[in-house]
Order: sequence, then structure tokens, then C-alpha cells
Amino acid sequence: MSTLDNILEEINKAESIVILTHENPDGDAIGSGLALYNALKNYGKNPDIIIPEYPRTFEFLPGSDEIKKESEITKYDLAISLDCATIKMLNGFANYFEDAKVKVSIDHHSTNTMFGDYNYVSTDAPACAQILLIVLEYFKMEVTKDIGTCILTGIITDTGGFKYSGVTAETFEFVAGLLNKGINVSKIYRKVLQTKTRANFELTRIAADRLEFFEDGKIAFTYITKEDEESVNAENGDHEGIVETGRDIEGVEVSVFIRQTDKGCKVSMRSNEYVNVSDVCLLLGGGGHIHAAGCTLQCTIEQAKEKILRQLKGVI
Ligand code: 5GP
Ligand code: MN
Repeated sequence: MSTLDNILEEINKAESIVILTHENPDGDAIGSGLALYNALKNYGKNPDIIIPEYPRTFEFLPGSDEIKKESEITKYDLAISLDCATIKMLNGFANYFEDAKVKVSIDHHSTNTMFGDYNYVSTDAPACAQILLIVLEYFKMEVTKDIGTCILTGIITDTGGFKYSGVTAETFEFVAGLLNKGINVSKIYRKVLQTKTRANFELTRIAADRLEFFEDGKIAFTYITKEDEESVNAENGDHEGIVETGRDIEGVEVSVFIRQTDKGCKVSMRSNEYVNVSDVCLLLGGGGHIHAAGCTLQCTIEQAKEKILRQLKGVI
């Protein structure tokens, strides 16, 4: 029996199912979560999806008004984690996962630690949502227009609008299938990639002003503090995309962006061609993908900057 057969068997058996994803959820995390949530509901199940906080950009997604912040159920029959590389990344709601009778991880991170009883991890997929499309088809669960909207949102956000290197001919074939269902790609694109909140614009402006270059312009570095976020009344997700400002400057190979949070310095790294930032972040206790990765460092911004630059100097 394949892993997917096992997972379907567990879905059939389970009376209570919870869907979880990573902290600071992005479009792929929320899109994948809601795609599975809607599919399981249509299949006759009554799953919960728990995401304590997420950017309001994604409130247009079908099913988002049913997202729970917490649950009275503590021991689910089945927990499914999506787009999440480690138990630690599940963060505040790891208990729902750890306490569940059966645990499943569906993901596309090469740094996935295989923390489920069943792991369906495909590192070639540019988005977890693309894997879900394969999974739902295997389960013979119909990909409705609503489900397709969630999946396409995941694919669009994690591929930066079909421009990252993980995009394959298969991605476009999948997307063509979704468009045939009448999904409005241009509306999703505008909502999730083009439109910025005012606070996001203000934070980007602050970060751009502070941006420094190192190693002959191959490294771009910037940061925002808690005070910066307070000063612009930032909401969840308003820091998204700032790391791309440095990445997109000619000559830059690695862009580093630090965001100060209650848990420490949340580091985002992006590379353009040859540096594997996932490896760099693994050495710093994090992980991610070859060209997009992150970690959290418990120190001041200045100390974090030094640690990161030291690591990068060896690979740049
Ligand atoms: P971002 O910079 O957008 O927060 O994250 C980029 C990628 O790196 C995402 O795929 C994210 O899941 C991963 N990532 C970010 N921070 C961490 C971390 O602390 N640990 C691990 N394992 N992955 C991370
Ligand atoms: Mn993803």
C-alpha cells in the first residue's frame, strides 16, 4: 500500500480531523490548508482547520471564515500538517499534532524532518498546494472551483507568480486545468501579489532606507524593529516581501532581512543563483528551500547580522 493509500484509509477511519500549518502562514500554507479543508468537507468529513493568526489578504479564500483559532478537542483521531518542515514550525499549536492518534505531514520542504507517522513529502514541487492537487486527484476527490482557487493561491504565492526556478511544465499543466474550471487567475494574482497594505509599503520604505551591501554588493542586508512595526500599525503579514527588495538589486546574490519579534530575530534569506540559503539557515538552526529559507536567532539584530555575515562569507 502506498503512503497515500494509508493516508486515505486514516481519513476514512477518523471521526475527528484537524488540519494545521506553519507559523506566520503564507499563501501556500493557508491555500493548502483550505483546499484540504474544503475537500474533506465535500467528502463528508467534518474537519477543523486551526490557524491562530493569518494576513487578511487571504480572507477572500473559500472557507476562511471557518478557520478556528483554537479547539476544545485536544486529542484528534487524525492531524494533518501542511507546508510545514518541522514540528517546531507548527509552534503554538503543535500540541494538536503531537496529541493526535495518527499524524500526517504533507509538504515540499527539503528540510522536512519526516515528523509524521505518514509523510508525503515531494521536494520537487514548487508549492505544497501543487502536491495537494495530486493528492486530491489520487483520492478521487473533486477539485471544485473553490478548492482550485485555494490551490492556485498557494501556487501563485510560493512561485512568486510563476517566476521561481521550481516552476516546471507540470506546474503550468496543473494551472491550465484549474483555469479550465473558470478560476480567475488575474484576480488572485492582484490580491495576493500585487496589492500591498499601506503598512507594508511603509515598512518596505524603512527597510529600503536602511539597506546595506556587503561582499562587493553580493549581500544585501536590512531589518525592521518592533518599534517600526508599531509606528505603522503593522498587522500580521505586513513584513511579507520586504526581503525581495534586496534580492532584486543587480549584483546581489543573497538578500537577508531580519524582523525583530518576541521570540527573537526572525531571519529571512533569499538567493538568486548559486547560494543554497537552506544550508546556511540549517547551520543557524532553521531551514527552508534552496533559494528561500529562514531561521530564528536569540540575540540582538547587530549580533544576528554578524553571525549571518560570517556564515555567508564562506559561501558567497
Ligand atoms: P520566510 O523567509 O518567508 O519566513 O521563509 C522562507 C522559507 O523558509 C519558508 O519555506 C519557510 O517555511 C522556511 N523557514 C523560515 N524560517 C524557518 C525556520 O526557522 N525553520 C525552518 N525549518 N524553516 C524555516
Ligand atoms: Mn510552501
